[in-house]
Amino acid sequence: MKKFQCDKCENGKITKYLHIDNGFCYKCKGTGKLNYDPDTKGHNAQENINPEIEWLEIQSEQEMIAQAELENWMHANNIEYDYH
Ligand SMILES: [Zn+2]
Repeated sequence: MKKFQCDKCENGKITKYLHIDNGFCYKCKGTGKLNYDPDTKGHNAQENINPEIEWLEIQSEQEMIAQAELENWMHANNIEYDYH
């Protein structure tokens, strides 16, 4: 199957999110490649690009940002994660 360069990251890493999960790209699952052309709306990629999925991506980005802010806040306040 033809692979396409992910339009969100470089080789599976999102540079601006390097501080969270090492910038792991959820769109291509860290591979840097997509099974569909991100530039092509419609055609055979239609089922992969719909507003609902776009919205989920936006939501997961928002969660990553919120997580980063929480971590920054915890670092600033010298609070360690403790799940036990
Ligand atoms: Zn990607």
